[in-house]
Amino acid sequence: METNLKTALVTGGARGIGRAIAMALAQDGFNLAIHYRSSQQEASQTADDIIATGGTATTFQADLNDPEQIIALIKEVNERCGAVHTLVCNAGIMHSQLLSFTKFEDWRSVMSANLDAAFLLTKALSRPMARQRGGRIIYISSDAALMGDLMRCAYSASKAGLLGLARTAARELAASGITVNSITPGIIETDMTAEIPATRRVKQIAAIPMGRFGKPEEVAGIVRFLASEQAAWITGQTISIDGGLCMR
Ligand code: NAP
Repeated sequence: METNLKTALVTGGARGIGRAIAMALAQDGFNLAIHYRSSQQEASQTADDIIATGGTATTFQADLNDPEQIIALIKEVNERCGAVHTLVCNAGIMHSQLLSFTKFEDWRSVMSANLDAAFLLTKALSRPMARQRGGRIIYISSDAALMGDLMRCAYSASKAGLLGLARTAARELAASGITVNSITPGIIETDMTAEIPATRRVKQIAAIPMGRFGKPEEVAGIVRFLASEQAAWITGQTISIDGGLCMR
């Protein structure tokens, strides 16, 4: 697609937080590359919704657990949307099990989807960003990276890994005008948290100073800011959006 707009690639952009991010960036005039793995219908719906409001969007399928599919994804995005200006690594999975019962294959699967994919995407896309003398990389991490979380050793470790990756990439890429930041959401109302039992939900809400779970659009608001010109001098940062759950 020929366009003069800046392209933003949002992984897992079909639903949940990713959809809200795609919609928000489209409102700010980005050409959206919406990645999905299995939610084809939702991805098409998100693209249609963007196009209906005058934006531009294209969908791309890839399983981010497979490095070859990541390479193919990048090639296809470059061919159809041009160079990526803003990369949002949002796709992620959670595996819930006590550490002592967590199988290595489940650990690896979470690491691969949540951390390895971000590394491979950052590595591949930061070079063309540097050639354009600018770009934005945003990782959707989690409060679990900062606080740990019961039964989520792989998830918490993968999300903490993103923070270290972001700070290193931020240092290495700053001279090329590329910023790299992480967002650590608390509990956000999406499919990922829909199954929380009512009694646990009540306890979790009681622990949040603002007294409620967050909305995908609230996370999208931070992404929108980090991708904007106003955030050109913010890099290597971790921004929590969690109703005050994890104050530092
Ligand atoms: P969600 O509704 O469960 O959506 C997960 C997304 O990740 C989907 O778009 C899914 O794509 C994609 N995905 C998962 N595994 C993938 C793989 N192997 N390859 C490619 N795509 C894959 O989750 P969400 O709540 O919107 O969360 C989005 C991000 O925010 C995640 O990284 C999550 O860890 C983080 N986060 C969420 C919360 C929360 O409370 N919800 C809190 C902190 C951080 P398909 O549907 O196409 O398969």
